Amino acid sequence: MILQVIVDISTNDIDRTFDYEGEDMPVGSRVSVEFGKKRLIGFVIGKSEKSEYGNLKEAKYIDTPISSEQLELMYFMREAYHLRYIDVLRLFVPSKLREEKDPEYTKKYLRIDDERTLEELVDVVGKAAKKQLEALKYLASNSGEFLSVMNIKFGVSAVNGLRDKGVVIESAVHERNTPMQTLKKQDKNITLTPSQAKAVEKIARGKGVFLLHGVTGSGKTEIYERVIEYMLADGKTAIMLVPEISLTPQMLGLFRARFGDRVAILHSGLNASERYDEWKRLKDGEAKIAIGARSAIFAPLENLGVIIIDEEHDSSYLSESNPRYDTKSVAKFRAHLSGAALVLGSATPDMESYLAAGRGEYTLITLPERISKHKLPEMEIVDMVQEFRSGNRSVFSMSLIEAIGDTLNRGEQAMLFLNRRGFASFIKCKECGYVAKCEDCDVSLTYHKEDNELKCHYCGRRYHALTKCTNCGSTQIKQGRIGTEKIVEELKSFFPNVRTLRMDNDTTSRRDSYFKILSAFGEHKADMLVGTQMIAKGHDFSNVTLVGILEADAALYFSDYRSSERTFQLITQVAGRAGRAEKQGRVILQTYAPRHYVFQFAKTYDYAGFFKKEINTRLVTKFPPYTKIVRVLVTSLEEQDAVDCTRNVYRSVQTLEKEYGKFVYLGAQKSPVTRMNGLIRYQVLMRIEPDIFGAVMPKIYQTADENRPKRGNIFVEINPQSLI
Ligand code: ADP
Ligand code: ZN
Ligand code: ZN
Repeated sequence: MILQVIVDISTNDIDRTFDYEGEDMPVGSRVSVEFGKKRLIGFVIGKSEKSEYGNLKEAKYIDTPISSEQLELMYFMREAYHLRYIDVLRLFVPSKLREEKDPEYTKKYLRIDDERTLEELVDVVGKAAKKQLEALKYLASNSGEFLSVMNIKFGVSAVNGLRDKGVVIESAVHERNTPMQTLKKQDKNITLTPSQAKAVEKIARGKGVFLLHGVTGSGKTEIYERVIEYMLADGKTAIMLVPEISLTPQMLGLFRARFGDRVAILHSGLNASERYDEWKRLKDGEAKIAIGARSAIFAPLENLGVIIIDEEHDSSYLSESNPRYDTKSVAKFRAHLSGAALVLGSATPDMESYLAAGRGEYTLITLPERISKHKLPEMEIVDMVQEFRSGNRSVFSMSLIEAIGDTLNRGEQAMLFLNRRGFASFIKCKECGYVAKCEDCDVSLTYHKEDNELKCHYCGRRYHALTKCTNCGSTQIKQGRIGTEKIVEELKSFFPNVRTLRMDNDTTSRRDSYFKILSAFGEHKADMLVGTQMIAKGHDFSNVTLVGILEADAALYFSDYRSSERTFQLITQVAGRAGRAEKQGRVILQTYAPRHYVFQFAKTYDYAGFFKKEINTRLVTKFPPYTKIVRVLVTSLEEQDAVDCTRNVYRSVQTLEKEYGKFVYLGAQKSPVTRMNGLIRYQVLMRIEPDIFGAVMPKIYQTADENRPKRGNIFVEINPQSLI
């Protein structure tokens, strides 16, 4: 049989199949092959009777870790994201399966066939085969040994002789690691509310994509669990994706308590063998539910009944390094392929998802009420311009200081949230709150220190740096920002005895320190938690009754067409942390733009209202979901190299623009961050309408491939999260 094999090397010129000879085996099999002078792992993706090449080498069968359904997924992803075969295949198997280069070295265990006596076995082997007899006796007296050890002790040919004669039994030894200790059973017996029950029924009986839009604390998680239970009872399996940051021990514990060993958990804290074990349990059908961050979408499950994506608006579902892919599209394809339902859940859905629901492409399920007897926390919006004018130079408004004092007096806890992301910085007037925006794009301009000018990250238009406010003439133009450290410091000046915890990128470089801080706060070892958006996600602290949002407009002025959407999402998420249990919560939001529509809609948790306004802006300005943004990013050690490649890419995209039309924008420029890790960065940026997207993308990928810089790299990104 001729096998078409993808070898485990990721380069462009090896991105094709190689023919090998081998026994008949299913596609998706893992083989050991000689490639050049090396022995490598390969994956069989095709079979044929004949080859146009002669003198083929042999591929040795190891196992079949990849299903034919996954292979279909591979072709889809290859096409949609222009990925190399091997880069997709690597997503399907744990790294451990790629380390074992020689099939003889797999961790197999040998023992003698215990159905027969040793004498009988000796007869079968025959007196002539001395080495084999030695090996057989060793196995008998040691009650078995690792195959790899046997090969070293007695030689491969002797051991193979025994195996061929059928006198030994092979088995996979496999020590079971438990990545998370099982937590105590949850004894809460929950009766679903009528709207929860209706949602479960709809999903369980339906097909296609469901958008579950439920306010924070509306019981979405409970719905997910019931849907999964239903699928299991129906003999099916389930995948549930959550943002990595929400994979807390607390959350995993709840799922373990509910589903026990039937759930496999895949998160970044696992080491290679733990990851392998969880993968293996899924593959063998021992575990039926895969929970994890985005890569769990590739879990080796058969007979999939449902894929759930919690916090579906979260940006972590977009993979922004090789291999680049959009988890939601992959999930949609996989769900369709296996006839599973896809559930997208969020309190603040992605605009694209909500638009699709509005068009009837998704089934919308809405949960407008919280489960607990308390309503969503009341939100107070504080005008920081007023505070400044009345002489308050602190980062805290009077209102927030009072509220913190009250909370501490009652022995309750508070969270202070500081909005912060990216490198870019905007310029803001302290007197009136004015922020400069691009006249063409309606996104905030970014200050570039080295050129001392303002630039639009979407169209490249440049503006003079401001020395005074365009709106009110004040010279109190502020650039730069405060950090969590500064906030803690100032907090102590008001409340000398307050116990604080701080959470940001500096304090949580490691996964476990992140959990340590959270659990310390959960155990009330501190009164206040101060942090960046990391504290916004799904943590359930029953004693938190106050949430303060400082500089709520920081993300609003981030030069991104999504800044309103993101600000709305963040406020809703953070506000959702307050008053989740018995006590009523309260939110104080500080801003320089209190009348901005984002805050007005956020105050009443009016997602639909916000959506209606925002989607209209997108339509008028022609931004996603009405267009797709594509960026070709060119990096190089040498400026000229980058410039040349960028120019060539730009020219061929210009040809496409002439041919197809429907480009809203096309431009080439330096990237906003012109140098990163020693590499010069240029980009060709375009916005194109969806109906030509499918036709144009392959050509853009091709152009990128043809214009690879000599001393750098080239990337194509679709709707990237940021354009730095
Ligand atoms: P969401 O995921 O929408 O934020 P959760 O599923 O976390 O909401 O639910 C919020 C809280 O309400 C949780 O503590 C959960 O255990 C509880 N809960 C959910 N459904 C019910 C129910 N039907 N009856 C009582 N409590 C419930
Ligand atoms: Zn612009
Ligand atoms: Zn001003």
